Amino acid sequence: MKIGVWILGDQLSLYGSAIAPLPVGSPVILIESLNHGRSRPYHQQKLILVWSAMRHFAMELKQRGYDVTYTEAEDFSTALSNWITIQQITLVRVMTPTDKPFRSLIHSLQLSCPVEQVANNQFLWSSEAFLQWAKSQKRVLMENFYREGRKRFQVLMQPDGQPIGNQWNFDKENRKPPRKADPNFNPPPPLWFPPDSITQTVIEKVNTLDFPVYGDSQQFGWAVTRTQSLAVLENFIEYRLKTFGPYEDAMVTGEDSLWHSLLSPYLNLGLLTPWEVVQRVELEYHTRETIGEHRIALNNIEGMIRQVMGWREYMRGIYEWSDPTYPNQNWFNHHHPLPPFFWDATQTDMNCLHQCLQQTERLGYAHHIQRLMVLSNFALIAGIQPQAIEQWFHSAYVDAYDWVMQTNVIGMGQYADGGVLASKPYAASANYINKMSDYCKACPYDPKSRIGETACPFNFFYWDFLHRHRQKLSHQGRMGFILKNLDQMDEAELNGIRQQAIRWHQRYNSHPSTMA
Ligand SMILES: Cc1cc2nc3c(=O)[nH]c(=O)nc-3n(C[C@H](O)[C@H](O)[C@H](O)COP(=O)(O)OP(=O)(O)OC[C@H]3O[C@@H](n4cnc5c(N)ncnc54)[C@H](O)[C@@H]3O)c2cc1C
Ligand code: SF4
Repeated sequence: MKIGVWILGDQLSLYGSAIAPLPVGSPVILIESLNHGRSRPYHQQKLILVWSAMRHFAMELKQRGYDVTYTEAEDFSTALSNWITIQQITLVRVMTPTDKPFRSLIHSLQLSCPVEQVANNQFLWSSEAFLQWAKSQKRVLMENFYREGRKRFQVLMQPDGQPIGNQWNFDKENRKPPRKADPNFNPPPPLWFPPDSITQTVIEKVNTLDFPVYGDSQQFGWAVTRTQSLAVLENFIEYRLKTFGPYEDAMVTGEDSLWHSLLSPYLNLGLLTPWEVVQRVELEYHTRETIGEHRIALNNIEGMIRQVMGWREYMRGIYEWSDPTYPNQNWFNHHHPLPPFFWDATQTDMNCLHQCLQQTERLGYAHHIQRLMVLSNFALIAGIQPQAIEQWFHSAYVDAYDWVMQTNVIGMGQYADGGVLASKPYAASANYINKMSDYCKACPYDPKSRIGETACPFNFFYWDFLHRHRQKLSHQGRMGFILKNLDQMDEAELNGIRQQAIRWHQRYNSHPSTMA
């Protein structure tokens, strides 16, 4: 039997379960498929990142003695068939893709030898372990899952079984509004890398593709190797971790990442493992004192570990656990098309949207609160179809994959699953954005007005959303207070809000999006 390993673009790890047990010298294939690139208008930097990281990984495998085939092809099937024939392979082994559509694609391949999928080991929790845990729960809540993970993997735990600091959650300390006036509010610059000759070649390829793409390629500076990804992790530990927590939810013009880690692209490609990130952060907590430095405050350490061990693992677990109808769910029955400005930031004068969208075009990155409380929140309260905004997110971000889209956009952002994942919809008016960012200061709209020429659309859409879904929302325990405010609203004002929301849609629906 001659086994060959097929390494997918988001499995760039020597520890991957398909490649790790294979003797050096074995045949390995990596395929750049143009058809896959055509499947949606991907951000140019996503294509550059994945293809360049694949080429670098292929080079590393060659240097380690593997018999590497690197193919630029129209589709996976032809490239695999040729490789199987030339190498006389009798079994293709591949690590089970994280994304379900890719699993189906593998099943549909008609090859001359079988394809064996081995369990994916790119997450802390195996799928089976998550499903077993979920079975034991009345509700699959993130907080319970996270605590179970902390105990199971013994992260930030005391010998008595209690969490270090005797508290599981420091979120309250991690919601500070931005303080630009404070001289200490000085976010460090991100670590970028000038493109090397391999990346330059990929940039040229992407610049001349004959299908639609999104965003810019000029500022490409993402890490494309494991060594560079580890440097980003170290840069985060050195300059960002100590202030990661407090301003996690803040948004500031001109500050693309504040103290966020920028690690998601590398975790999602397999260039970093979640366990090494968690261990490195915990180590920093335990060691700074021993070298005579101040210990990093626990809200920063726990905050970061919660993201990687909690949210990231939980989102992937829910993706495995959810049924095949999940991607098509639409609990609020929202059907408006995506406004065209999502594909072109210059087309909106709403400053918060403009800032987040132009940053996304420039980098393929926005941090969590920009994604959740500006972009996704707007789509939710404006009644955009969840699948339309999900498709956009999947195109727009360099770290986007099906597994992370379904849960974050359909579940968390749009509440289209009816509350499987979130205890209430992440819907907010301009109040929230005005408090947590400086965007409103430079906006032609008034964050305090609900109706009128200059009323902020986040306001009339927010109240209109509550009004339209009053019945459904009244069953959500955490909505009681806000629904009382709605009930006290004057009927004429509510009517005005409704009319303004309708007029806004009429304006945009007459110019349907060209990319969607
Ligand atoms: C609507 C929406 C869309 C999103 N799209 C993506 C996406 O395409 N790809 C993606 O990886 N994440 C996505 N997220 C989750 C999160 O916003 C990003 O992981 C994060 O912003 C990446 O930036 P960072 O590495 O600087 O994160 P940090 O704030 O530094 O967080 C550290 C790490 O925690 C992990 N993490 C934190 N929250 C989540 C989460 N909810 N789901 C998964 N991982 C998480 C990421 O790996 C991240 O690198 C989305 C969230 C929302 C609400
Ligand atoms: S006023 Fe409204 S549209 Fe303008 S930045 Fe603030 S929240 Fe966004």
